[in-house]
Parts: sequence; structure tokens; C-alpha cells
Amino acid sequence: MGEKNLKISIAHLYPKLLNLYGDIGNIITLKKRCEWRYIEVEFENINIGDSIKEHDIYFVGGGQDKQQEEVADELYRQKDFLTEERDRNAVFLGICGGYQLFGHYYQPHNKDRLNGISLMDAYTVAGNTRFIGNVTARTDFLEPQTLVGFENHSGLTFLQGETKPLATVEVGNGNNGKDKTEGGRYKNVFGTYLHGSFLPKNPHFADYMIELALEKRYGEKITLTPLDDKLELDTHKALIHKAY
Ligand code: GLN
Repeated sequence: MGEKNLKISIAHLYPKLLNLYGDIGNIITLKKRCEWRYIEVEFENINIGDSIKEHDIYFVGGGQDKQQEEVADELYRQKDFLTEERDRNAVFLGICGGYQLFGHYYQPHNKDRLNGISLMDAYTVAGNTRFIGNVTARTDFLEPQTLVGFENHSGLTFLQGETKPLATVEVGNGNNGKDKTEGGRYKNVFGTYLHGSFLPKNPHFADYMIELALEKRYGEKITLTPLDDKLELDTHKALIHKAY
């Protein structure tokens, strides 16, 4: 199937509230890496009060506890629909605060627990240390294997059941600074603590997401035409920090 006949729909959930540290760069990357291949992109911002409709990719950025509170209520109101979307193999990417809401709950310090939407079997509790810094983590399914980015969170996320880590931390803290896991994955739901923004520095993961979304939409594996990623991958390599 030629890429020129393909279409993909992307929803950015609550960009006015969860869009910390330039997380919009993830949306720009997904759009451009489709457009550069002449894949038609349908795009929709979903804000407070909007009903979330069916899409191939859903993105939720990061934010402080206050913004998470507003978004948590909106996501929880639409939990059943989003669970059906997960089970239809839609692709989700949550960054930091958005990732935390993909689990069962986020328990901030001295505040009521925020309900998550349980797209993945995980939970987050506020820690006493804010993890801030560059992260290098290693996957077992990407080439290059590495993922790089910047973390800034106090939440500690713990994965359970069939939810697997996205990667193993080599430099930085990742999910909780204890078990060397970074991010999580269940079906096509992905979460990560990596800001930066994440996808421009990890173009191979952006393409991985796009291929999953196309497979969900068209029911067959579609391998994307490679792009000239020299600049992106040189940047990626320059950001790989070694654990000395
Ligand atoms: N408020 C959450 C925390 O501090 C998420 C922060 C973020 O999205 N960077 O852990």
C-alpha cells in the first residue's frame, strides 16, 4: 500500500493544560513525519468539555499537579470510551503528568488522590525528591535501542501485572529512581517521563508509533519509508549520557 493513499488521525488531549516543557513538539513530530511521507493527517485538539472521538493516536502532555487535577476529571468521565479505544489498539502516548493519569491513580502530597483511567496497570505516588535531569534509557525493541530526554517530576510510578517498562534506565531516575524502569507499555499505550520534547529526539520511536497506528487503522503491517534522519539521530546520539 503506497503511503500516499494513507491517512492517520491524531488527537492532542488538553493542550491548554498539559503541555509542559514544549511537549507540543511531540505532536509536531508526529504530524511532520507523516506529512513528509505524504500520509494525510487529520488532527484535533480536545479541550475541557469536549467529547473525545475515535482517533488512531492520542497524546497527553505533562503538567503540574493543579493542571492534572482538571484533566483527571475529564479523562475519568470518558474512561470507558478510552478503554475501548485501547482495546481497539489505538496508540496512546502520555508524557509525565499525562503518563501518570494512564495508571489507576496519582496520589499527590497533601491532596486528594487523582483517579487515573487505568489504561495500564500502574500507580503513582508523590515522592519527597524532585527528579530533574537528563535521562538515557535502553529499549529491547527499537533501533537504535536508546531513548533520551529530560525528566522533571516528583511522582514515583510503579508498574504491575502485564504492564511492562518502556525501557531500562542507564542514566537518570525514570519511573521511581529505584527499580531502573523508565516509562510503561500495555498494548499500544505508552507512557514516559521524558520531556524535551521527547519525539523530536527519538524519531525512531515516533515512527514506531506511526506504524502501530497505521496497522490499527488498516489492519495490516505497514513499514514506513525511511526518512533522512541524520540531524535527528546525531542530536539523539549527542544526548546519550554515559553512566560513569
Ligand atoms: N505533577 C507531576 C509530578 O511532579 C507531573 C510533572 C510533569 O508533568 N513534569 O510528578
